[in-house]
Amino acid sequence: MLFAFLEKELKARALPELVARFVTSAVFFVFCFVVASGAWAQPASSEQKPLRIYFVDVEGGQATLFVTPAGQSLLVDTGWPGNNGRDADRIVAAAKKAGVGKIDYVLITHFHEDHVGGAPQLSARIPIGTFIDHGENRESTDAPTVEVWKAYQQLLATGKYKRITAKPGDALPIQGVQATVISADGAVIGDPLPGAGQENANCKDAEHFPPDKTENIRSLGILITLGKLRILDLGDLTKDKEMELVCPRNKLGQVDIYVVSHHGWYQSNSPAFLSEIAPRVAIMDNGATKGGTPSAWDIIEKSPRLEDLWQLHFSEEGGAAHNVAAEFIANPEGPDGGNDLELTAWPNGNFAVLNSRTQKTKKYSPR
Ligand SMILES: [Zn+2]
Repeated sequence: MLFAFLEKELKARALPELVARFVTSAVFFVFCFVVASGAWAQPASSEQKPLRIYFVDVEGGQATLFVTPAGQSLLVDTGWPGNNGRDADRIVAAAKKAGVGKIDYVLITHFHEDHVGGAPQLSARIPIGTFIDHGENRESTDAPTVEVWKAYQQLLATGKYKRITAKPGDALPIQGVQATVISADGAVIGDPLPGAGQENANCKDAEHFPPDKTENIRSLGILITLGKLRILDLGDLTKDKEMELVCPRNKLGQVDIYVVSHHGWYQSNSPAFLSEIAPRVAIMDNGATKGGTPSAWDIIEKSPRLEDLWQLHFSEEGGAAHNVAAEFIANPEGPDGGNDLELTAWPNGNFAVLNSRTQKTKKYSPR
């Protein structure tokens, strides 16, 4: 029967047309297979490079290195001072892994020592282009803060670096991703981001929080967008400001990846905020004895769309009940390995997280 059909077709059509039909069918078949299998596919095209994010272990401070598909680098915070440049060394090691010999932008979220403290040591180890910050230090009563602020001022005074003082709503000049400033120096965006702005029914009953009086409330927070993916990093922004972002309207919308604010401490990560931004994956830059508060951990874990929480450290305060499974922890109990977590993201919405300790990767497909 098939033979009879082919014979008829051969008589009816020119051979090239049949070949063309066969090729078209084969291509369509392969396409259907790929779609049906829902395979997590890394784009084959070499021009579609990924965004890479290195969550460097700075023992309960922040140092997050973004390397964009355009090859530009943005480091959010520089870890602690002291320790013979331990944190700067770890950041440089991450830059080396990423193949960058210069950090184009160093964004200082605020002037606490676990964020800006490592800047002088870092600048001695790797070239830096531009510093981005929220302006002046507003916490002149805290001695360690005053000290690291002075050192940062001295660094800027060398005249070697450009400086950008960012305001909410600004677009950072980094190429390869969109980076929008959400919060800075105690102010947050006035208008909702495109696609956001829905009324938030939970605001009426939500708990209200007194204003934080430290540099934390000044945190320079950003939303990074790569194609379909949205990544939120608000530094140590506190609960009172979180509420301004999601009440009475959710100005941010939902995010895919949440760099857990304030190392997972209870002064940040309010339930109303987490249920509104509803991340799929949260990455917590806690130390063994800093951040990872059980109450905040619970709120993140219970947020409505969460697939996985990753931790830079096992939290001693969290104990057995408030830590994720070992495979999601870069540095478990015991001697500190300084392991990082590495996230690779594509504009089509695929992303993956690598635990550098286990060398195992977990992949996430677009939703
Ligand atoms: Zn901090």
